[in-house]
Amino acid sequence: MELLKGKTAMVTGGTRGIGYAIVKLYLDNGASVALCGSRQETVDKALDKLKAENPDYKVIGLCPDLQNPEEVAKAVAKVKETFGSFDIMVSNAGVSARDSLYDYKPEDFAKTMALNVNAVFNCAQAAAKVMKEQGGGVILNTSSMVSIYGQPSGVAYPTSKFAVNGLTKSLARELGRDNIRVNAVAPGVTRTDMVAALPEEMIKPLIATIPLGRVGEPEDVANAFLYLASDMASYVTGVILSVDGAART
Ligand code: NAD
Repeated sequence: MELLKGKTAMVTGGTRGIGYAIVKLYLDNGASVALCGSRQETVDKALDKLKAENPDYKVIGLCPDLQNPEEVAKAVAKVKETFGSFDIMVSNAGVSARDSLYDYKPEDFAKTMALNVNAVFNCAQAAAKVMKEQGGGVILNTSSMVSIYGQPSGVAYPTSKFAVNGLTKSLARELGRDNIRVNAVAPGVTRTDMVAALPEEMIKPLIATIPLGRVGEPEDVANAFLYLASDMASYVTGVILSVDGAART
């Protein structure tokens, strides 16, 4: 079943991990997709991989600086110009760090907030302007399970994800009247580069706290993004959907 037939989506952080899984699932469900990354080289690599799987995929690659509102607005305009509409914005790009508060450099705190929060605001604002004109749309953000319980190190990351939840719930209330739904997905530990970079002694105790007994796969998370983007979620807005195997760390 093609749940997104005729829809157009832009996915930030779409070159790998969770974002790449979302891009692929959206394409497999009939959407046209603009995948965004921070470097042209990784964007091209992801495009080549997708085209090798299916040359008929309607996909383009973009490299906007997500922290620059004008560049984000230009990217949104480019997607609309290329595919004729702009229906789904997925703000998924994010970074994390594990520094202790005692060593945390204020500039590193600001860097995490700039990508994980300010860029999400920029994407929501640019997308909403076009969606309002068009009569509606869907904005989805990647949060994290740490947005619910916090995290005992790297305080910028959980702080940024709490902010993502705040943006999501508030924008759902503000934009509902423009027929724009706004939701977030809060993944638990998911098998991506971000997790592969964590030391084994950190992963093992994490898995021990997950009732489903495994880490999530990017596809587990992408399925939630598919549901929320589709008309199956037509009356769902302002939700932070946990996809974490009931992990409570
Ligand atoms: P990843 O490191 O595999 O991918 C991150 C993506 O973000 C890449 O496509 C990268 O190009 C992009 N990105 C990084 N810095 C950027 C920048 N400055 N500008 C533009 N794009 C940039 O990570 P992932 O695990 O797939 O994470 C995706 C999202 O999921 C993030 O928001 C992350 O916080 C969230 N998340 C991940 C996990 C997990 O366990 N992997 C758990 C909870 C939440």
